Amino acid sequence: MKFPFLDLSLQHRALRAEALAALTETYDATRFCLGKDVEEFERAFAATLGYPRALGMNSGTAPLHVACMIAGFGPGDEVITTPFTFISSAWGINYVGATPVFADIEPGTFNLDPDKLTAALTPRTKGIIVVHLFGQPARMDEIMAFAARHNLFVIEDCAQAVGATYLGATHGGARPVGTIGDVGTFSFYPTKNLGGCGEGGAFVSRREEIHTRARHIRVHGSDRRYYHDIIGGNFRMDGFQGALLNVKLPHLAAWTARRQAIAQRYGSAIKLADARLPEQPAYGQSVFHQFTLLHPRRDALREHLTKHEVGTDLIYPVPLHLQKCYAGLAYGPGSFPNAEHAAANCVSLPIFPELTDAQVDHVIAAVNGF
Ligand SMILES: *Cc1c(COP(=O)(O)O)cnc(C)c1O
Repeated sequence: MKFPFLDLSLQHRALRAEALAALTETYDATRFCLGKDVEEFERAFAATLGYPRALGMNSGTAPLHVACMIAGFGPGDEVITTPFTFISSAWGINYVGATPVFADIEPGTFNLDPDKLTAALTPRTKGIIVVHLFGQPARMDEIMAFAARHNLFVIEDCAQAVGATYLGATHGGARPVGTIGDVGTFSFYPTKNLGGCGEGGAFVSRREEIHTRARHIRVHGSDRRYYHDIIGGNFRMDGFQGALLNVKLPHLAAWTARRQAIAQRYGSAIKLADARLPEQPAYGQSVFHQFTLLHPRRDALREHLTKHEVGTDLIYPVPLHLQKCYAGLAYGPGSFPNAEHAAANCVSLPIFPELTDAQVDHVIAAVNGF
């Protein structure tokens, strides 16, 4: 494929010498689990959010799991989330024995529709997991107001939205996503906007008691070795990921700007009848983890693009409420029309910082030629 959907080798080739030097130092110092590299990364990453602290974890799923433990969700409790996301957004709810309850999305932003939350609310509802999908912030003002009215714990899944800004209607100033709810979670899976060379994630909270609890849970529920005050697990980030992320974090702002420039180009130059391009509402600034459009003849469009050497992906082909693992929740087709429409019509175009303008123009011409 001459115009690949994603090519991680370009970024890693450019950083090879610096990355291997950092990894070598960590290797020689045997800083394999947590340690100085991870601590440095935590401080630098927290600073991008305006926070004094963050916790490096061993995946983006881990902080979601830990957040659900800290929220106190359990058997009999319900947690509202979106059916149009990566499955991991909901796993934490299951891990603590609670039940995911879905609410439909807005068709333009692919994110939770605040007007659909009431339909999902029951006396058992304890929280909401908001996902800022494809890098686009969700409508946090409305979601936070709903959560406050019903005393719900709010977790922001920012796995795809590192660096995205929420401007909002009432907050006054711009705020990074992940700092608005009770907990923010991030993933550094290699394909994410900030990716490690392996698994990684982060947990942040404005509330110190939540941060401290997460820090203990991360290391087997202990503050002191071999003394376990609470139930924990192993959610530690490894030292190599910390070292590598320290090399990459300084580039994130430029990479994000490049993603936004590509999205701008797609948004203004793609002219395809019946296509619905992603909306960019004024309340937030997307970091364009994906550029996903909707088209009624999605499969034919994809085939056409493949013929023109343009890589695409279907993100996501099946909404969560129709996944086999959730058959027990007994949602049928038709439960969430917007999520189902998105799954049936979506196609994602190449968008990564190393794409050249010429490549982007080729993608545009190929789409417009359909
Ligand atoms: C990638 C992703 C996760 C999980 O991250 P891992 O690091 O793969 O565990 C969670 N939520 C969303 C929306 C994601 O895209």
